[in-house]
Amino acid sequence: MDLETLVSLAKRRGFVFPSSDIYGGLSGFYDYGPYGVQMLNNLKSLWWNYFVRQRPNIYGVDSAIIQNPKLWKASGHIDGFIDPMVECKKCKGRFKEEQVDVKKPCPSCKAKDSFTKPKNFNLMMKTHIGAVEDDSSVAYLRPETAGGMFTNYELVRETTRAKIPFGIGQIGKAFRNEISPRDFIFRVREIEQMELQYFVNPKEANKEFDQLKEFTWRFFVNDVGLKKTSLKWHEHNKDERAHYAAAAFDIQFKFPIGFKELAGVHNRTDFDLKSHSEASGKTLEYFDPESNKKYIPHVMESSPGLGRLLLAALADAYTEEEVKGDKRVVLKLAPQVAPVDIAILPLSKNDKLTPLAQKVYKLLVEETPLLVEYDDSQSIGKRYRRQDEIGTPQCITIDFDSLEDDSVTIRDRDTMKQERVKIAELINHL
Ligand code: ATP
Repeated sequence: MDLETLVSLAKRRGFVFPSSDIYGGLSGFYDYGPYGVQMLNNLKSLWWNYFVRQRPNIYGVDSAIIQNPKLWKASGHIDGFIDPMVECKKCKGRFKEEQVDVKKPCPSCKAKDSFTKPKNFNLMMKTHIGAVEDDSSVAYLRPETAGGMFTNYELVRETTRAKIPFGIGQIGKAFRNEISPRDFIFRVREIEQMELQYFVNPKEANKEFDQLKEFTWRFFVNDVGLKKTSLKWHEHNKDERAHYAAAAFDIQFKFPIGFKELAGVHNRTDFDLKSHSEASGKTLEYFDPESNKKYIPHVMESSPGLGRLLLAALADAYTEEEVKGDKRVVLKLAPQVAPVDIAILPLSKNDKLTPLAQKVYKLLVEETPLLVEYDDSQSIGKRYRRQDEIGTPQCITIDFDSLEDDSVTIRDRDTMKQERVKIAELINHL
């Protein structure tokens, strides 16, 4: 399947829309529709449960998107978060240097020999705080969520009385002024990240790093349900990784555009706490009660992008099958990821079936945590097709027999097998 197929399904079925679509969209920005937002919420809560809630020594924070700009100076982003960019002198189109062959014509306007020499372009989004717009009021939208975890390191440690090793997790938006956003939600300018910063004893760094790699991998396979064959490791060589990182691996996913980064796992050494300690003047050393020695903890980072994860889940689940000579498109999403758990589909809309179907709907919505949808428009065949494309694992139909035998039919998304179940036993059965 190509990317266009997914883009079209995502729009047609209410997962992802171009941002401000009625105005022609805005490059690098997307909105999530009713099914997209539910899927994002599912993925976020899977991540939060696995990385934070179920771990006794991992704590959550929610730091502000705009922080004191000194943070980004100390982290190296103001000086170093750059991409080399070339510009076409004719159409003024800007491209990441690595994306174009400067000896060839401009891909936009086809002008020959039109590229400028590469210039460094900072990816941080700038804004001004308060009424005065001058250099003193410049601030930045965070380019990653990590910064707010390093600046809160000491406060979290003090308030929780955590001992090394411990971690801080955060889910939140980040902004990068990507020169050429592309490939749908793969490369955008407004990103949501789910990051864990894990603070460890330097002596344990290599062991902790290996464990975090495995831990992150297991999340994608066991919790999100991605196929193992769709994932692989990519180790950064020295030129690819940040100067301070002792090791960096990506988990790549087989996107329709090829194997590309889904998440990064990095050994960031003592770079972060040391830089922030020096720049802020606050000591971020840890006193180890066992050895009675002080050290600056090393940071192991696990950092998946939420939008890329949603794209990966859609791509992994997308299936085309032939059923009785017709093409069936079905999203075989893991139930915990799917935006709807159960669809209630009365065979037709009338004063006999509608009240019973509404009763079943109310029962499930009020008595279970399931995400239930009620749909009685169009033919039953079209409604099944719609639910298949949304990835709903089970559909319940209410037909005229239901009025006699107090039973409903449950249809399984993947096998399309149908089963008759008594309404009184429905909740237990589900
Ligand atoms: P890339 O090499 O693709 O630019 P990166 O190495 O800069 O990514 P990190 O800074 O490690 O990425 O960010 C962690 C995660 O955030 C990435 O693995 C990815 O899932 C997500 N991410 C980063 N940049 C973008 C973007 N522009 N659009 C969508 N997701 C992104």
